[in-house]
Amino acid sequence: QKWSQFGIPAQTMEVIRKLNYEKPTSIQAQAIPAIMSGRDVIGVAKTGSGKTIAFLLPMFRHIKDQRKLENGEGPMALIMTPTRELAVQIHRECKPFLKALELRAVCAYGGSPIKDQIAEVKRGTEILVGTPGRIIDLLSANSGRVMNLKRVTYLTLDEADRMFDMGFEPQVMKIIGNIRPDRQTVLFSATFPKQMEALARKVLTKPVEIVV
Ligand code: AMP
Repeated sequence: QKWSQFGIPAQTMEVIRKLNYEKPTSIQAQAIPAIMSGRDVIGVAKTGSGKTIAFLLPMFRHIKDQRKLENGEGPMALIMTPTRELAVQIHRECKPFLKALELRAVCAYGGSPIKDQIAEVKRGTEILVGTPGRIIDLLSANSGRVMNLKRVTYLTLDEADRMFDMGFEPQVMKIIGNIRPDRQTVLFSATFPKQMEALARKVLTKPVEIVV
């Protein structure tokens, strides 16, 4: 498998080259074309598989395309993840691409002052990475005047199984209730138990399933 077969824009390819990601991993080779075709995707893959890049690269292209169509405010892509550590890690993986693509990403998690995160969101961002509780806090901050999710058209649920093990399902569903139904949704999970199937049916539309 080669990177060149996916139609990834040149600026993004340049960053991949600098990071020395010589070839796509198995989950990347399967998930990137499926997501770039516009379908909802379920990826069953563990940490270490390269799953983060698998949902980030199509997200960057999605935002670039979408930004040509509309102006406005608020994030265009939302990445939900169960823990602060994961949120920080995803944000870190975004960083080399942000500069090259002229995009911004804010990382929001509990246990650190919300004031700073509010200020960052207010400055403007295309991408929001965060944990469910803090995303809800941001949505309700200053009576909803800080941020809304009306512009989100690309939603990622990362490590969905852990998100549910940790009891975040009500918060996740509440947040998704704020996002337009015609969004593209990508769900990654290390395992895929029965309860996840039920949730996936509620949240994704005719998803392509990829298991590595
Ligand atoms: P993840 O499974 O997303 O947590 O990624 C695991 C690690 O693999 C991360 O540190 C990435 O920087 C790295 N990585 C992602 N894609 C590739 C690739 N195609 N080639 C080499 N390393 C990669």
